[in-house]
Amino acid sequence: MSRFLSDNYKSLVPYVPGEQANVKVIKLNTNESPFAPSPKVKEVLSEQVIDNLNRYSDPELKELTAAIANRFGVTPDMVFCGNGSDDVLAFAIMGFCGKGGKLCCPEISYGFYPVYADIFGVELEQIPLKDDFSIDINDYINKGKNIVIANPNAPTGLALSYDDVEKIVSSNPDNLVIMDEAYMAFCGKSCMELVKKYSNLLVTRTFSKSHSLAGLRVGFGIAQKEIIEDLNKLKFSFNPYNLNTLSIKAAAAAIADNEYYDAKIAEIVEIRDKTQKQLEALGFRCTDSKANFIFASSDKIPAAKLYEELRKRNILIRYFKKAKIDNYLRITVGSAEEMQVFTDAVAQIMEENK
Ligand SMILES: *Cc1c(COP(=O)(O)O)cnc(C)c1O
Repeated sequence: MSRFLSDNYKSLVPYVPGEQANVKVIKLNTNESPFAPSPKVKEVLSEQVIDNLNRYSDPELKELTAAIANRFGVTPDMVFCGNGSDDVLAFAIMGFCGKGGKLCCPEISYGFYPVYADIFGVELEQIPLKDDFSIDINDYINKGKNIVIANPNAPTGLALSYDDVEKIVSSNPDNLVIMDEAYMAFCGKSCMELVKKYSNLLVTRTFSKSHSLAGLRVGFGIAQKEIIEDLNKLKFSFNPYNLNTLSIKAAAAAIADNEYYDAKIAEIVEIRDKTQKQLEALGFRCTDSKANFIFASSDKIPAAKLYEELRKRNILIRYFKKAKIDNYLRITVGSAEEMQVFTDAVAQIMEENK
């Protein structure tokens, strides 16, 4: 630590991302897609676009917000884009909870929520899940605090129903409810429609998981226009050009290509279900994941051991050394070939460690 860091930030415990690999590994640790982005993405990244990089990107992100609005049947003034959905979450937690504000989230959920709460001085309540890792919605009814929930939740993969989301949103009219739908494309019914009915709902999405564009860094939030105006006010006070020109073009092309992504998402879901069955046959318990990852545990081998053994074989998955889930592993769904190598390796390791 230097002598210059503000006292406010000395005790920060930063978010720890899953590692990015250089050597040839099977990478099942950060919930990326195994597939390349839509071919339309390549088409729009033309030489002409590159030659125009001497100009600033459009701070109003008109092309991208229009494409997203069109895709989800909302108006462009209901869309806010960020440099990854992390950027959207950061602006929202900073702006709507703020210093001394109150926020709650599930105790086992996305690791960034506590980090944002900490850096922005927000008082965070982490609400335990039920024993089966599901969220008890009664914990969030009439809560009287801002709420952020990943739906489906990570790393459990479990999803709340549309009706349950509506109960949470409608019972907290004076607080903001952020539904982080990073994995909703794999799940089914987004609560995005509810945005038209409820002024306290912000739904966030990302191109990183379902749209094979984690490296592009684009995410967005959908809410009524007053919330979007506030988010833009914050953005224009902090980093007006938060997306670069290449990201704007590429994401706009991707979000319009439903046909390509619907097929890839269906393929991932199919591979997930098959891999899960294989793991269950090996004696694992898996949650009913609705996301592009599997959350699994076995009494036959400690999760930490299996994680290490897979690592030695250049297969990366995610292990969280955290109470209540420290015998679980989160396995991103890769290609069919990758998952076969993975399950074969797991079977072999189990055999060797009997
Ligand atoms: C991956 C993830 C994000 C962040 O995604 P980016 O758009 O890549 O910043 C947000 N929330 C959850 C629950 C995630 O898993």
